[in-house]
Amino acid sequence: MIIVMRPFVAEADLEAVTSLIASMKLSSHVSRGAERTIVGVVGITNDKDTLRAQFVQMEGVESVVPISRSYKLVSREGRRERTIVRLPNGATFGGEQVAIAAGPCSVESEEQVRATAEAVSRAGANLLRGGAFKPRTSPYAFQGLGEEGLKYLRECADRTGLAVVTEVLDTRDVELVARYADILQIGARNMQNFGLLREAGGAQKPVLLKRGISATIEEWLMAAEYIYVAGCHDIVLCERGIRSYDSQTRNLLDLSAVPVLHTLTHLPVIVDPSHGTGIRALVAPMSLAAIAGGADGLLIEVHPNPAAALSDGPQSLTLPSFAELMGRLAPVAAAVGRSLPAPALAA
Ligand code: PEP
Ligand code: MN
Repeated sequence: MIIVMRPFVAEADLEAVTSLIASMKLSSHVSRGAERTIVGVVGITNDKDTLRAQFVQMEGVESVVPISRSYKLVSREGRRERTIVRLPNGATFGGEQVAIAAGPCSVESEEQVRATAEAVSRAGANLLRGGAFKPRTSPYAFQGLGEEGLKYLRECADRTGLAVVTEVLDTRDVELVARYADILQIGARNMQNFGLLREAGGAQKPVLLKRGISATIEEWLMAAEYIYVAGCHDIVLCERGIRSYDSQTRNLLDLSAVPVLHTLTHLPVIVDPSHGTGIRALVAPMSLAAIAGGADGLLIEVHPNPAAALSDGPQSLTLPSFAELMGRLAPVAAAVGRSLPAPALAA
């Protein structure tokens, strides 16, 4: 159930509502917009009609909306305004300006991260991506550099005006990764790792939640709800392709998820065309299509020498091809009323 308060409601009226919710052993989640405050009521209750009647009569309450959806707080009904996630370097997800995250699949060396960060910053990216902890299908594959990799990301991003997005794989590493990252990535394989969702949601950092390999949109939003309930309201959803029967591409990039999500949730949605296709030549066309279709940003794998990459070389753009893509994206973004970030480093 969602309780919509009147515009500019008095604190005392809001307090009366949340106290009543607490006295019923339910929990409340307050979402404050520019004009209006909305209270999400979470918990199990048998008598919804009585509950509704009680709240609707309270001072400061405008309306009470019963929600049958299982995700409440991340739903459009849960918050009227779209969420804009802002990072310390000025990058935004969900505003007029789209966010562009670029970088290697895995952090391999300081030199590799430095060269990539400089090039993508000059080309106009505003986040540096790269995995220091890698979820690999084989236990024998390169697993990442751990904290050493996090240090390279942080130092190179700071030197080039970028924010850091990097994956956290394990609840035991959330605090460590949160010390270095501006936004914590939860990967496709962990979308329903509920312990990790809770832990990341409590880390006081924004969270980028990738779609699970076979997750429905509803399951994905339920996973986002876990993070929201744990205290993190700055969540970015990332479509990265789902398993399909067709082996022409690594995954089936579901671009329709972008407009579908925009009708269901107030959270921003970005697209990862690299994992979504697995093929370098498809990254540019899918990036253009994603922005044209309303995506709030892109997450793109870029490597100084893809042929020598320790992971995902075949889907990684070279540094010049990333710069070329950024040039092609600008008119598409403008055509749909969006803009690209201004480069932090001179070209
Ligand atoms: C990644 O972005 O580094 C990654 C491992 O992606 P996914 O979780 O989508 O496979
Ligand atoms: Mn990868």
